[in-house]
Amino acid sequence: MDKISAIVPCYNEQESIPLFYKEFQRSTAEMKDVEFELIFVDDGSKDNSLEEMKKLAEIDDRVKYVSFSRNFGKEGAIYAGLKNSTGDYVVMMDADLQDPPSLLPEMYRVVKYDGYDSVATRRVTRKGEPPIRSFFARMFYKIMNHISQADMVDGARDYRLMSRKFVDALLDMSEYNRFSKGLFGWVGFKTKWLEYENVERVAGETKWSFWKLFKYSLEGIVAFSTFPLTLSSLIGCFCFLASLVSMVFIIARRLCFGDPVAGWASTVTIVVFIAGIQLLCMGILGLYLSKTYLETKRRPIFIVAQTNCEGKDSDRK
Ligand code: UDP
Ligand code: MG
Repeated sequence: MDKISAIVPCYNEQESIPLFYKEFQRSTAEMKDVEFELIFVDDGSKDNSLEEMKKLAEIDDRVKYVSFSRNFGKEGAIYAGLKNSTGDYVVMMDADLQDPPSLLPEMYRVVKYDGYDSVATRRVTRKGEPPIRSFFARMFYKIMNHISQADMVDGARDYRLMSRKFVDALLDMSEYNRFSKGLFGWVGFKTKWLEYENVERVAGETKWSFWKLFKYSLEGIVAFSTFPLTLSSLIGCFCFLASLVSMVFIIARRLCFGDPVAGWASTVTIVVFIAGIQLLCMGILGLYLSKTYLETKRRPIFIVAQTNCEGKDSDRK
């Protein structure tokens, strides 16, 4: 009998957890030939999420929980879930039911019988999302696909069913700056995409502010592309060439027409322009340097405070 581990990262989801559990039960009732394991990862919630998880663990011994010592972010929660999973297949889903459990039977069928290593989902609409947010999200995917090898799909969710092979490949990448959407594409393997209409969350509210998303997208770019570094060198070359041309122009003008005193304003503009570009490029360098700095510290990706999973207390190496 196959075993599927479902990983559910939760941050302040006390209302969603019982609803999720009920819906999960209902959708998987028909899958008689599979055993399930439900791993809730409490990402340092400040509400009663952990109590809700413990309640479920008491009535259902397939329910596991891993509770962090503080909020480490969804990426850390995903990693912790993968580490603690024991199933032949692993599926990742949000607690807010935006990843409909009703797709599970179909996803399982595809990896089991159609020879795929993972089944991913993407939402084809962004209904219920602020238009500005959708616009920037689209732009992000467009740029990202141009400047990086990791294949990222617009509207892709983290909702994904993976084979053990796929999960082990993900776990082999123990990098500190994790950008799962990129890692999924980077490991390769055969992936089938299922599409569905966006579903709004059942309870609670989104944990992503615009600013948080913006920082997350920068993280993605820095983690999966060195194009910004190339770009800053290109800008540097361009400025150098432009200054050569203008130097020739100024010398020629001096020789042909004497020295008409031109305004200082243009000089100042040029100085400010160059200084601006230099600062921008230094900022880009700094971004990569800071990521390298964090990576070299090899800090744990998460720290567990409480869990009912056996033997794996932390990811400390
Ligand atoms: N989440 C988490 N840690 C965080 C933020 C979010 O574990 O720091 C979880 C959250 O509880 C939810 C999932 O990640 O189960 C997706 O978050 P959310 O629904 O807020 O994002 P959205 O669907 O709006 O993109
Ligand atoms: Mg959500």
